[in-house]
Amino acid sequence: MTFWDHLKPAKRAPVATEVKVAEDQKTLVLTWNDGAVTRITGQKLRGQCPCAECVEEWSGRRTFDPSSIDSQMKIIEVAPVGNYALCFTFGDAHRIGIYHWTYLRELSAPAP
Ligand SMILES: [Zn+2]
Repeated sequence: MTFWDHLKPAKRAPVATEVKVAEDQKTLVLTWNDGAVTRITGQKLRGQCPCAECVEEWSGRRTFDPSSIDSQMKIIEVAPVGNYALCFTFGDAHRIGIYHWTYLRELSAPAP
């Protein structure tokens, strides 16, 4: 690692170019600007909700156990937040979390 390696441009931030919810409403399928396709289950999305109700702001601690989320959790609605994030309405009517692209990319696994 040389000094010059630190000056390389930062990796381009991930942005989804296509957002789809599978027909059974239990999986979110994202196509990214680098060509990757990834999926996240409704259960995982709901369990990792980053909103102030689900995560204590001062400690960063989650207010519930993500494994307590229903494995059949549905994604009822997806709404864009500006061009940097998505907001979901879940089967339990929770809908205040804002998921930035970077966070969604971290949560999602490559589609098989
Ligand atoms: Zn939440």
